[in-house]
Amino acid sequence: MSRYLSALEATEDYVRSLQAMGVRFLNIQEKTLFALRQPLPEQPEMMVAREEQAPRVPDLQKPSAGPVMVLPEAAKTAVAPLSLIQPAVSALTGEEKAATMAALRERALACVKCPHLVKSRRTVVFGTGDIHARLMFVGEAPGADEDARGEPFVGAAGQLLTRIIKAMGFTRETIYIANILKCRPDMPGQSYGNRRPTPDEMKTCLPWLLEQIDLIRPAVMVALGATAVEGLLGKTEGITRLRGRFQIFRDIPVMPTFHPSYLLHNQANTEKRKVWEDMMQVLEKLGLPITEKQRGFFLPPRQ
Ligand code: URA
Repeated sequence: MSRYLSALEATEDYVRSLQAMGVRFLNIQEKTLFALRQPLPEQPEMMVAREEQAPRVPDLQKPSAGPVMVLPEAAKTAVAPLSLIQPAVSALTGEEKAATMAALRERALACVKCPHLVKSRRTVVFGTGDIHARLMFVGEAPGADEDARGEPFVGAAGQLLTRIIKAMGFTRETIYIANILKCRPDMPGQSYGNRRPTPDEMKTCLPWLLEQIDLIRPAVMVALGATAVEGLLGKTEGITRLRGRFQIFRDIPVMPTFHPSYLLHNQANTEKRKVWEDMMQVLEKLGLPITEKQRGFFLPPRQ
């Protein structure tokens, strides 16, 4: 069998083993998908033919070849698929990254995977901000305001999030914001009110967000509220228990914290302070200085 075919076969085995381990989605770059869609190349077969004609180099697997380095079977097959499935996204130039994100956006804006949401939505709320950002916020789903504007977090909760972002020393343009769901969950009458996305809707929509995360590769992420935590991390033990402790998602530290809409409903300084302490941990993780003034936000006044 040619090296090309055995690499392909090993890839298939690897993907199946991931599936057996419960992995539901793989992130594959556009250019990898493009390459995989091409007809079987002549080149690898030619390479094999040439290799067969060439003088044989000592086979390291054979005892006669001196010191032997025997690779475990799994390691032998893992090399090709890993390099196929996890292309070095960080190797993209800024321009390539922007073009890949623009292409991803185009595909997401045309998404029709949830026919009921396609019927009710006005826009697909893709995400906003700097695609090179080191900090990314992930929310639940667009509401009516976001659906109308096509931008995440622009309603009342969004305005509060913008204030939190500013208090941290950023602007909306210097970080990235996206949601688990890119369409507003449909509501009877559609004009007001929100509902949580269903697990099916989240599962269907998540690949878009995963592609965004893998392209941006932020240094730190913030998951806003229980739904974002569940959608990203699959954890359902509740935001009150999880907030304030970094979790890991695709090697990226994720800070779960309360959703800003919770703070709109519960305006106690104690709750604002909890979110603020979570954000200070995020600043620390990013290696950014925290001023004395920032350290004092939402603390009770000294007696
Ligand atoms: N709430 C969210 O979780 N996301 C938005 O975009 C707006 C409100």
